[in-house]
Amino acid sequence: MAAIFFDVDGTLVRWRGDYGDVLADAFERADATVTDERLATYDERFFQYFGDFADDPSRRAFADVCDEHAVDAEPGELAEALVAAEFDAVEPVPGVESAVEALADRHTLGILTNGVPDVQFGKVAEIGLLDRFDARVASHDPAIEAIKPDRGIYEAARSRVDAERYVMVGDDREPDVDGAREHGFETVHVDATAADLSAPDFRTLATLL
Ligand SMILES: [Mg+2]
Repeated sequence: MAAIFFDVDGTLVRWRGDYGDVLADAFERADATVTDERLATYDERFFQYFGDFADDPSRRAFADVCDEHAVDAEPGELAEALVAAEFDAVEPVPGVESAVEALADRHTLGILTNGVPDVQFGKVAEIGLLDRFDARVASHDPAIEAIKPDRGIYEAARSRVDAERYVMVGDDREPDVDGAREHGFETVHVDATAADLSAPDFRTLATLL
């Protein structure tokens, strides 16, 4: 039995359209006007608060946008609107449902993602697959506070499942391949921009299926 951990964004789910449209949708849902400056301020501040492990980074970033650009909206309402817009905008990466179903029969599956737990796990719930993942690890769980490729998040994942082998499946080279390998995982790289799942590391995949 292996413990197989999946990244979320670009691996299990992807956006219909691009993320700028999702963010714009959040402003519209909160009856606020969207401008490029407002979107840019949101992005910059979100990553700053996110990197600092501040509570509720999205609401804080929206609060800065409202202050600095005189936006007449509630930051909390904008943050809730963004989560709703994100949940409406996700779709499964083609091929992922059958791969997850096949692997879940024989292995313990987990999620290993950078992000806020409720948001990340909620996106997987939106595509109907959350129940397949027994171990759920997110960087912004207060008990973890480590972002891939930092050691702590991989160690948290390994501590959740007792397995002979640990495998990381993901789309991003540094967090999902290089970092995971350095911290005790075999890796499978998938490319969500391809029309179907790709797995350059066929040897690993062949031993799993
Ligand atoms: Mg990813």
